[in-house]
Amino acid sequence: MSDNIICRKCLLAELGEDEYFTALRQYIADYPAEKRVPDGEYSRRLAVCRNCERLANGMCAVCGCYVELRALKTEQHCPEGDKWHKV
Ligand code: SF4
Repeated sequence: MSDNIICRKCLLAELGEDEYFTALRQYIADYPAEKRVPDGEYSRRLAVCRNCERLANGMCAVCGCYVELRALKTEQHCPEGDKWHKV
């Protein structure tokens, strides 16, 4: 677990850009191993997103998620058809 303090009640409008992206990266780093996909599957999912026309600024235009967060989670799937699946 990180020593960084994350405000769990702040909205985006209340965070600076650097703080926000630092918090996102820390969230990814700290996400529990038992809930995250293996590294190879994570890379595969992100490679699919990188080549998807729905990706814009790190976000999926279909669901509004940051793909690096969505693809991290075992229970998630691509919201648009069968591009990548729950594992
Ligand atoms: S989650 Fe699916 S629809 Fe969204 S950017 Fe990735 S591949 Fe495309």
